Amino acid sequence: MTLSFDPMAQTYTRLPSELYRFHDPSPVSSPTCIVWNDDLAHELGIQPWNSPTDLANVFSGNRMIGGARPLAQAYLGHQFGHLAMLGDGRAILLGEWLSPAGQRVDIQLKGAGRTPFSRRGDGRAAMGPMLREYLVSEAMNALGIPTTRSLAVVATGDLVVRESMLPGAVLTRVASSHIRVGTFEYAAMVTTASVLRQLTEYSIDRHYPDCRQSETMIVSFLNHVIDRQAYLVAQWMLVGFVHGVMNTDNMAISGETIDYGPCAFIDTYHPQTVFSSIDTYGRYSFGNQPAIAAWNVSRFAESLLSLIHPEPAEAMTIAEGCCREFMRQFHTYWIDGMRRKLGLLQAQSDDEPLIDEFLSMLSQTAIDYTGSFHALLRPSVTIPERDRDAWNHWKRQWDSRLQTQPYSRDEVASVMGSVNPIIIPRNAHVEAVLGAALEGNMRPFSNFMASVRHPFSPSNWDSNFAIPLPVDPSYHTVCGT
Ligand code: AMP
Ligand code: MG
Repeated sequence: MTLSFDPMAQTYTRLPSELYRFHDPSPVSSPTCIVWNDDLAHELGIQPWNSPTDLANVFSGNRMIGGARPLAQAYLGHQFGHLAMLGDGRAILLGEWLSPAGQRVDIQLKGAGRTPFSRRGDGRAAMGPMLREYLVSEAMNALGIPTTRSLAVVATGDLVVRESMLPGAVLTRVASSHIRVGTFEYAAMVTTASVLRQLTEYSIDRHYPDCRQSETMIVSFLNHVIDRQAYLVAQWMLVGFVHGVMNTDNMAISGETIDYGPCAFIDTYHPQTVFSSIDTYGRYSFGNQPAIAAWNVSRFAESLLSLIHPEPAEAMTIAEGCCREFMRQFHTYWIDGMRRKLGLLQAQSDDEPLIDEFLSMLSQTAIDYTGSFHALLRPSVTIPERDRDAWNHWKRQWDSRLQTQPYSRDEVASVMGSVNPIIIPRNAHVEAVLGAALEGNMRPFSNFMASVRHPFSPSNWDSNFAIPLPVDPSYHTVCGT
């Protein structure tokens, strides 16, 4: 056994017991580790395992890690705008681990069996969605976007009942914490003022310790969470990521992307893009994400009101002031990112109309979003015949704009190359490698993983994974819960 938790280093369990329930994972029949993240294990200082059986037993929940006191966390969540009592219904937190660099992370098993918060669910997860979370979260990390990580996927040997019988799996998720906006909603609405205060101070110490220096510590905390969320959603928008289910329980206060369900990357650029089969009204469409994040941070601010100021009206005024900043900050991060993506290395006042026109042009064409940034530099990358006029019209403006800045084409290309990925987990490729994995062939999954780990500089430019495939307009993702 090469992993054990230091009982002295466990911090969440020092919080009031209203915030969690101790609960062990339920055993599975015949665990086999099908994916193991060597890089992450190394980064975390988790030594390689000698015995595959041990590894599978530990990361399926069959064998308890020394020092672990497994628990399920309590939280509420606004799901599609409606408040619900949730909590970890199928995830179990094994403990907190300190990396050699001194970074504290939660190690959690997802799909580890029923918990006191399971409601009618079976507490289990199907292999397809767990491999999907592994793949997309690791791709996001390689893209430099804050995210929870994935350490392992273990097949359980059991079937789970969904629309059909599916092979079950347990994912090991690593996060800087699993404290969500919904955790604060729970503390504010279901527990006492003292529990809310303790959760808040704990979160500050764990994620934003600098706030302790501020005279208005709680407001400073709120501002930090707003800032990190604005940054995160800007990064999603720049890379074309659609989270798909931005409920308040799926928004971590650390600012990491969390809870990969029906997420996907856009191919062509259309703000109304929705992939999730349950998002009937497009609440979580690509273009709505900034507005929804703003809505979510307002729910977060609401849960802190009693700590912000004893006078409710005053607390509300302060919180509203903070929340209004969200869109401004989002916009600053986003425009900054777009400038770099387009090689506009010196900010100019008319950049924004130029960028708007670019996106508006893309939205009327079948041009691949990710590929479009490369097409500006490499005329060989094809633009569909019928879109050439629109493309060339915009590109001429872009060419003249570049001439107004004192940078060579090489300098521009180098910045653009460092921020525009060549490889993203394109939907068609994701489905293909997951399909093969479910038939027992892990090789395409492994090859794809190796590619998405180097999104900006794939070893082979002709990599098949870089090439857009024909877009399937009926493509939908499912939550897979
Ligand atoms: P998610 O859509 O993954 O964010 O989950 C929303 C809520 O449903 C959380 O409280 C989950 O723990 C719970 N949940 C999802 N799937 C299951 C399941 N198979 N069994 C029990 N609870 C689940
Ligand atoms: Mg969730």
